[in-house]
Amino acid sequence: MTVHFSCTQCGKCCHDLRLTLSAEEAAVWAGNGHTVQILSEALPVVPGAADADDPGIVRSFAAMSGEMPIRIAATLVAYHDGACPHLLPDMRCGNYAARPRICRIYPLDRLAGVRFDTQAKVCPPEAWEESHPPLIDGARIFDPEAVAVLAAHRDTARREVPLMAALCRKLGIGAAAFAGEGLAVHTPEPAALLDALHELPCGLAAPDGPASWTIVTNRAATFAMLAGAGCDAGIVARDAEYLGSFPDEPGDMSG
Ligand code: SF4
Ligand code: SF4
Repeated sequence: MTVHFSCTQCGKCCHDLRLTLSAEEAAVWAGNGHTVQILSEALPVVPGAADADDPGIVRSFAAMSGEMPIRIAATLVAYHDGACPHLLPDMRCGNYAARPRICRIYPLDRLAGVRFDTQAKVCPPEAWEESHPPLIDGARIFDPEAVAVLAAHRDTARREVPLMAALCRKLGIGAAAFAGEGLAVHTPEPAALLDALHELPCGLAAPDGPASWTIVTNRAATFAMLAGAGCDAGIVARDAEYLGSFPDEPGDMSG
C-alpha cells in the first residue's frame, strides 16, 4: 500500500531522538561539543545464514560471548535530551546544509528490510494524508534524492562495521543488549571518542573485539537461556544505559 507523506515541520523528529551517524558525522558532532553515544546489540549466529546480503550480517561484526560466537551491531548516534542543539525556535534546522544524512531521510527507515510503519514514526497524523505526495510503497521509495541519500547512509554504515569493531575495542565497550529486546547505551568521554575517531582509519580489518562480550537483558527467561547456552550474560534494569523494549520484571534477578 502506498504511504503518502508531507512534512508538517512540527519538529518532533528533532526532539529526544538518537540520530544515527557515520564516523565522520560523529566526529563533527562530538567536535562541536554535542553528545555522541554508541548503541550495541548482540545478534545470535544463525547456522547457515552466512548470506553476505543478510541485513543482520551486513551491519554486524563477529565476536564471542563466553563460549558462544555472536555478532555485534554497534551504532554511533547523536543524543540530545529534548531539542536538538541545532533546532531553531521556529522549528527550522539551524544546521540544514550540514545536517546528518539520517535527518535527510526521516521518516524512512535506515535499515533495509524493515516494513515501513507510520505508527513507529513521530510525525503527526496530518503528515500522512492521502492527498500528499507518495513516499513509499513496499520497497519502492518515490523520491530519487531520498533513495540516493538512503543508499549512501546504508553503504557508509556497511563500510564502517570494521571501524565500529575497532572503536568498541579501543573504548573498552563490551556489553550489548540481546537483539530484539533493546539496546545497550554507551556514552564515551567526548575527548576519548574524538581521539579514537580520528585515530582509527576506515576500512580497518575487523578485530575479534573484547575477549568476551556480555549480553545484557532485563528478562529472567532470556538471561537463563543465554547463560544456559554458555554466553556471558548479565541482568540489567531499564535506565539510561539500557533502552529495554520490555518492562523490568519484579523481584531481584541478580542472583
Ligand atoms: S540537525 Fe537539524 S534536522 Fe537534524 S535533528 Fe537537529 S535540528 Fe533536526
Ligand atoms: S516529525 Fe515528521 S512531520 Fe514532524 S518535522 Fe519531523 S519529519 Fe516533519
